[in-house]
Amino acid sequence: MNMTPITAITALAFLALGAVACQSDTAGERVDDSVRTSQQGLDNEEGEQGQMEPISGSDEDQSQSKTGEESADTIDAGDVPPVGSELELSEGEWRERLTDKEYRILREKGTERPGSGELLDNKRKGIYYCAACGAPLFSSRAKYDSSTGWPSFYATYEPGRVAKKSDRSMGMERTEVLCDRCDSHLGHVFDDGPEPTGKRYCINSKALDFKSVEEITSESEE
Ligand SMILES: [Zn+2]
Repeated sequence: MNMTPITAITALAFLALGAVACQSDTAGERVDDSVRTSQQGLDNEEGEQGQMEPISGSDEDQSQSKTGEESADTIDAGDVPPVGSELELSEGEWRERLTDKEYRILREKGTERPGSGELLDNKRKGIYYCAACGAPLFSSRAKYDSSTGWPSFYATYEPGRVAKKSDRSMGMERTEVLCDRCDSHLGHVFDDGPEPTGKRYCINSKALDFKSVEEITSESEE
């Protein structure tokens, strides 16, 4: 007998709470935006940037503001070898440096089984480095789910980090992707990727070392 009024009151209370929560959220965002840039329609602009610029994806990540909202087109990769630098090692040195699986992929152009790579579903913010030499190759900003079973990116971290080479092995015409610094095999690039580049860098997990923004920051503070 008492259930109906109580339920109604509870429902009303929830509605009221919900409305208050929504309002304060929205108000909070508006204040943030006006403080930051006083631009109207900032949300739209961010969306458009995400389409125009390869590196600045439309990500709403909080760590972005920690690393400097204004200039955060790329995630800072920390202390890395400069673009254009080279690392040449003997096969023996590579064998020593890499695990067997890494060696198979990076130095012998192997391919890991689709769906098997540990970075496939990694959605953390950070940088993907060459597992052979530590050069920064890809950013989490350009990572997307291609449903192919391999980690996929629509852009590289920055120009000059990745080299491309025509690959006619296995009866296919493909473009191989290599680390520009150490010439290690990473994967292939295709023209069926999403906007803004239309590229799909299809990369073996084993060819990559991932570091989160937090890990990079704490390393560079040491
Ligand atoms: Zn490398």
